[in-house]
Amino acid sequence: ELPPVRGHVEFRHVTFAYQADRPAIEDISFVARPGETIALVGHTGAGKSTVVNLLARFYDPTSGEIRIDGHDLRSVSLASVRRQMGMVLQDTFLFSGTLMDNIRYGRPDATDEEVIAAAKAVYADEFIRRFPDGYFTEVQERGARLSQGQRQLISFARAILADPRILILDEATASIDTYTEHLIQRALRVLLEGRTSFVVAHRLSTIRESDQILVFDGGRIVERGRHDDL
Ligand code: ATP
Ligand code: MG
Repeated sequence: ELPPVRGHVEFRHVTFAYQADRPAIEDISFVARPGETIALVGHTGAGKSTVVNLLARFYDPTSGEIRIDGHDLRSVSLASVRRQMGMVLQDTFLFSGTLMDNIRYGRPDATDEEVIAAAKAVYADEFIRRFPDGYFTEVQERGARLSQGQRQLISFARAILADPRILILDEATASIDTYTEHLIQRALRVLLEGRTSFVVAHRLSTIRESDQILVFDGGRIVERGRHDDL
């Protein structure tokens, strides 16, 4: 059981291979202090998603170790890790049901008022209210009727409601209209504030505001620092 964490995350010489012959990431080491935003950047296939997949414990390292507040990830239960970790993926998963239920996903006990407050905090409230049924609008799986940007805002609301200490975010790459893009940029600041966040970053604005940027190439970190240093 992983006790409530502050969000100190460390990778120590982590190597992982999906297939035996060729590591997807090799000898990755970094420390994220509680509350920091870490941007992961690099070409396609460089290893960014593999790093966050290991942190979320979809896989275990082939060698090396991952520590959260000093606890080796392999020594604690998966459920206790996931409870303290939020994930906003590129293509947000919505299930068929109302927007209210979709935001409440990670916090089934949340009241309607709490759901609405979370949506307001990440600027999702306005577009939700424009639907005739508002928060009670039924969505289909894959979120038909919502743009990718709107789906990402829904998943931000979901994440802020669950309030995890550690957040993994894979930024959407699809073209998002200028207005929604502006909302997302503002929402990101609110969402990342006070949590240790790992962002597979495509937006220059996110990269610029990160505490550390890790540049990946061929499964290794080839550069690191803040935006002004790189
Ligand atoms: P992108 O920007 O395209 O998302 P990425 O930096 O996230 O790229 P990864 O998905 O981490 O890259 O991939 C790193 C390497 O691991 C690549 O060579 C990729 O082909 C390989 N890889 C990724 N996922 C798998 C998998 N499920 N099975 C086998 N190989 C994989
Ligand atoms: Mg990826």
